[in-house]
Amino acid sequence: MTKSNFNARTTNAKYRWTIVPDDVNDDGEFEFANHFNAIVGIELRPPPPDNEYLIPVIAMRKATELFEYCPSCGADVPHARPVFAVGDYMVYPCLDCEWVWCDGTAPQEGLE
Ligand SMILES: [Zn+2]
Repeated sequence: MTKSNFNARTTNAKYRWTIVPDDVNDDGEFEFANHFNAIVGIELRPPPPDNEYLIPVIAMRKATELFEYCPSCGADVPHARPVFAVGDYMVYPCLDCEWVWCDGTAPQEGLE
């Protein structure tokens, strides 16, 4: 195996999301190569314009502890769905819309 076999990284490479919310199960894991891998510990890229750097996922909790409805699309949040602490963000893998990046530094209504 030589390095050239895996020379997929170029200076002009565009990195895109490959994990969609539907891939994330209620335990906060995604399946890759027949293994379940925790989202906690990987790095996620925030949406533009803050997408210059990847941010590590440091913790997970139940989304229903933060909100009843998706902050982006308003869909009901299933009781078991996770939400992730990513830097100053709370990131919710909504099954009805997309990865929702919330400003985690702002107090959430109903929790104070
Ligand atoms: Zn949503």
